[in-house]
This record gives sequence, C-alpha cells and structure tokens, in this order.
Amino acid sequence: MDCNLKIYLVSSTDSPEFTSLTRFLTRSPIVAFDAEWKPLRSPSSSFPTVTLLQVACRLGHDSDDDSAVFLIDLTLIPLPSVWELLRDAFVSPDVLKLGFRFKQDLIYLSSTFTQRGCESGFHEVKPYLDITSIYNHLQHKRIGRQAPKDIRSLAAICKEVLGVSLSKELQCSDWSLRPLTEAQKLYAATDAHCLLQIFAVFKAKLVEDGITELDSSDLNVGLREILEISNHGNTIVTVKICKALDVIRATSESCQSLANGVVSRKSIRNTMPMDEILLKIVRRYGERILLKESDLRPKNSKRKARRRVASNTVDRDKQLSCCGDWQGPPPWDASLGGDGCPKFLLDVMVEGLAKHLRCVGIDAAVPHSKKPEPRELLDQAYRENRVLLTRDAKLSRHQYLGKNQIYRVKSLLKNEQLLEVIETFQLKIKEDQLMSRCTKCNGKFIQKPLTIEEAIEAAKGFQRIPNCLFNKNLEFWQCMNCHQLYWEGTQYHNAVQKFMEVCKLNE
Ligand SMILES: [Zn+2]
Repeated sequence: MDCNLKIYLVSSTDSPEFTSLTRFLTRSPIVAFDAEWKPLRSPSSSFPTVTLLQVACRLGHDSDDDSAVFLIDLTLIPLPSVWELLRDAFVSPDVLKLGFRFKQDLIYLSSTFTQRGCESGFHEVKPYLDITSIYNHLQHKRIGRQAPKDIRSLAAICKEVLGVSLSKELQCSDWSLRPLTEAQKLYAATDAHCLLQIFAVFKAKLVEDGITELDSSDLNVGLREILEISNHGNTIVTVKICKALDVIRATSESCQSLANGVVSRKSIRNTMPMDEILLKIVRRYGERILLKESDLRPKNSKRKARRRVASNTVDRDKQLSCCGDWQGPPPWDASLGGDGCPKFLLDVMVEGLAKHLRCVGIDAAVPHSKKPEPRELLDQAYRENRVLLTRDAKLSRHQYLGKNQIYRVKSLLKNEQLLEVIETFQLKIKEDQLMSRCTKCNGKFIQKPLTIEEAIEAAKGFQRIPNCLFNKNLEFWQCMNCHQLYWEGTQYHNAVQKFMEVCKLNE
C-alpha cells in the first residue's frame, strides 16, 4: 500500500482535519466509505455501534496524490454536526459512492446516528457502486458470461485485482477503544482507500475497452495480468456517447433540483464535475442503496449481528467441511449461458482420467503448462468454462472458483473415477461417442473418415501406418488438432468394448 497515503483522524469539528474533510467531501466526485464497529457478543435487540467511519476521497484525477482518507471518530465527534455533511454526500448525484457491501454498514451507521442525537439516520446512497459488482463486471468480461456470485472477501478481491494483500489481523480488533493504534489507523484507511484503487482499475479497463474515445493518458493504467488476458468476447457494451446529455447536465448545475427532482443542495457543495468517463460509468453501472423500514429493525439473530468477517469465517468453515461436494448447475448448463457440452480440466493427479474421458468422447483438457501454479489451473477453468477435476483437497478448497466449477474426485482407479464423474455430472454417454476424440490431445476428429491412401499421405513423415493394415478396408480418423491418425483396429474394438462396460452401456 502507498506509504504517502494522507490519513486524517477527525475527532472534533473545530479542527483543521474537519475543515479538510469538509473540503474533500464537498469537492470529490468519487468517495469510498467503510465503517468499523465493535461486534456484539451475544444475540442482541440492537445493532452494533459504529465507532469509526472511513471516508476515502479522490479529487479529479485517478492519482493517489489527489486522494485522502479521513477516519471520522464517531465516539468523539458530535454526530449531529456531521450528519448533514454525510447525508449530502450519500445522495448527491455528483458524487459516486463506493463501498464493499455497504448496505450493512449503512444500517449500523443509521442506527448509531439516531441513537446518538440525530433525528434521522441515512436511508439512501446513490449513485453507488459496490466493489462486488465491479468485481463481477470484471469477471463477466473475463469469462464472457456472468460469473457465479460466490462470496468473495474484500481481501481476496484486492489480491486478485490489485495484487496487494490486505492484512486482516486487525479486522477483529476492538474498534471502540481509544486511542486507536497507528496500525489500526493504517488498516482502517487502507480498507477504504483500496476501494478507490479497485475502481481505478475498473475504469481504466473500460477505457481500454473503448467505453470512450478520450485520451487515457491521465488514467491510472496498471492492470494486472489477469485483466490483460481477458480480452475475448468484448461483452461490455460500449456506451453511446451522450454528449447532448452532458451539455444539459453541465449547464443546469444551478437548477439541478428542477432537472433531477432532487432536493436542492447546500451552496457549500462545490463538487468537481465528474469527467465524461465517470459519468458514463455512473449511468451504465450506478446502483442505489435504499433502506426499508424493515432493514432498520434489528433482527434478533446472532448471525446477522456479527461482523462480516465473522460471517465470512463461518462460510469458509462450511466450505471446508463439505469441500469436494458438487453443487450445480455446471458452467456448461444452458441456464448459465453454456452450450450444454460438458468440459473438464484435469490436474496432474488425475491425468489418466483425462484419457478415459476422451475415450468416451468427453472434452477433457489438461493444463497448458507442465507444472501449473494452482492459480493458472483455476484461471484456465474459469476462462474456458470447465469444471476442474482434481484429487488435491487444498485446491478444491479454493474460494476462487464457484462450487459448480471444481470437483474433487474421490475414487482412486481410473475406471471408477470415470464412472464417478459420469454419475456426478449426469453425463449421457452414447455408443457412437466412444473413441470419437483424440486421446493424445483432446482434439476432435476431422468429420469424414480417411481412406488408406489418404491416411498414408496424411501420415507422411509423421506417423507410421503398419503394413498389415494395407489390405484391410479400414477407416481412418485424423485429429484436427495434432493430426494423429487413428484406425478401427483390434485395439479400437477392445477399447470400445471396455468403455461399453465401464459406462454400463450394455445394461
Ligand atoms: Zn490430437
């Protein structure tokens, strides 16, 4: 994380920090919010009290020099004195709000403000963009369809998108104790600041993909490899340039209330106008958090009252205990936009199974490299919409893939493994599928069988065709991919017989 990050602790209204906060909050077109609270120990009829609100602001450009993080100490500052400032920022159409599952934070924040002298809490945040949505959009881009919406922690997203590890040590520290330690301050600030950085990557990606014609030289381009390899599909629709709308927007600053039906804002707000790209992003992806009455009533539930880290831990434990269990639908399912053709990726530990699957006509790929990192395997499965088959328990615990995209094979013997996969994924194997795929490389055969003459020609300098085949009237198949020739010999018939039995096609 950036060591030059400007962090201000705001604990009173008559401080230079508060002046700075006001200045940034009323001028920044992008603001990221995060909150810390002390978890409740037992089921409770109230919400936890938010003790710290982190506000990361970025003025015009996507540069860290232009950003600052304010840690508003809600245990010290009189809440009514910051309520309006925050409320205005939450609903200002000129400020894009970023958060990580901020609805929960907003509920607790609302409750904290009403309990501590404010007439009303906060009911609405818009335009808003959740980091989870951003992540899903980036994923959608990568794999050409909606990624499974599994629960990913902010730390995992940071690691993946920014390549930085957030330390989670302090997440459960006591946020009600004062003074906060330096480490706590840095942790809290980083949690909010990284939201700005993830957004900058997203924005740069959209620019790169042509969401706008604007010069991107002022953008913070520094995408990780994972985003760079993603460029197939171009599924993000280029947003039409709405110049006319922008002009209307720019010239109607002063009468925005008429144009948008928004309650007229205080004159202190002097937000730098959103640039064209930001406007487009807000129009295309902007969300809204709206709290209902029922959201603001605490549910007497232990799980709900816990801090989100705690609930993440629970999810994780659950995942560990049932790892390897298959949860569909598979990525090739029509409901997920797939073509209905099962596709697998097999790691080194089940390489033999790959050949068996190919023998029964199933698309079974192996990793591109000899000794792939777990990461590469997971990426390949994701990119190619395959289910990763492995015997590696550690790999199957990976949260990176949805549970419908990884399966831990339990049987040890190849034939049993084949049957296990067929049954688990309810694969329908027909007789004409047997031996219909190159066992060497997983390629498909050229549609039309070759005659012996054609086969000899095709095999020249590459594969020897035994003389004993010459006088038999055999058909040959050639792999479209690696050009290997196959023929209907004894081996072939034995194999067909064997897989008829393994797949129980005779019964
Ligand atoms: Zn082949």
